[in-house]
Amino acid sequence: MGERRSVPDVDRAAAARRAVERRRARASLKRDIATRVVTPQDVLGTAVAEADSVAGSMRVTDFLMALPAIGAGKRDRVLQELHIAPVKRLGGLGVRQVAGLSAWLDDRFPVTAPRSGRSRLLVLAGPTAVGKGTVAARIREQHPEIHLSVSATTRAPRPGEIDGVHYFFVDDAEFDRLIADGELLEYAVVHNKHRYGTPRGPVDAALAGGKTVLLEIDLQGARQVRAAEPSATLVFLLPPSWDELVHRLIGRGTEDAEERTRRLRTAKVELAAQNEFDHRVVNEDVATAAREVVELAQGVAR
Ligand code: 5GP
Repeated sequence: MGERRSVPDVDRAAAARRAVERRRARASLKRDIATRVVTPQDVLGTAVAEADSVAGSMRVTDFLMALPAIGAGKRDRVLQELHIAPVKRLGGLGVRQVAGLSAWLDDRFPVTAPRSGRSRLLVLAGPTAVGKGTVAARIREQHPEIHLSVSATTRAPRPGEIDGVHYFFVDDAEFDRLIADGELLEYAVVHNKHRYGTPRGPVDAALAGGKTVLLEIDLQGARQVRAAEPSATLVFLLPPSWDELVHRLIGRGTEDAEERTRRLRTAKVELAAQNEFDHRVVNEDVATAAREVVELAQGVAR
């Protein structure tokens, strides 16, 4: 008898564990929505395609509250307008409700279409610790036909970094001179600390020689390039999830606690800027992300 009773106990324990995992996954997805690692349209799309997915099991109220700048008042008005009961889950919405919610999302959170007529100047930007440097390094190794710009910086070299290969390491006076002589295509103070800039000469020469040029720079720099060269193609590198981004940031272990907090704050602000970009690439693994960036580069080169 005792043995028979233990079977449902085991089932219950497993079910409870699954429920906890599910809640965790939903909480993680909510963070992804809040930090814009995923678009709400993608989440709704997944929920509709697979009702029993994590997205499908999320309550519409929780979904709405996870959206940037949506409070309880706005949530209630939207639910009322779209005739959606607060207990509904995303995967359980009717066809009309999905259409209504989808139209409201497109209006409130427009997804920009890539612009046409792009040049061979490619900018790769994205939040801190998303792995831009690693993706760029992989492209440098495997695609010598793409010119990877070497930035000037006032920060000190890390172990293994070579002057002229990874960066041009310069002092403040030299950086000032580069600015004064108009030798930088863009420059910025990154993480409130050091200055980084793209030397204009090598970029111009490579473009003139018919090469595709890749700049791996921060968001402020990307905006300056867009202003200076409106035809540049802007690619935004996304982490697979917000939690993964936090993990990568802390896992790197090269910064102290204060610096980590500062970088996380910067990352949130940076993620919010992704709609200014022409393309979004998710850095799930480096090889795939690098291939996608190269394909975009080849696409605009045609
Ligand atoms: P790190 O010091 O870790 O090599 O780079 C810090 C940040 O500086 C990265 O986000 C990187 O993209 C950015 N960065 C590197 N070079 C440049 C540059 O030339 N211009 C700008 N605006 N940012 C850069």
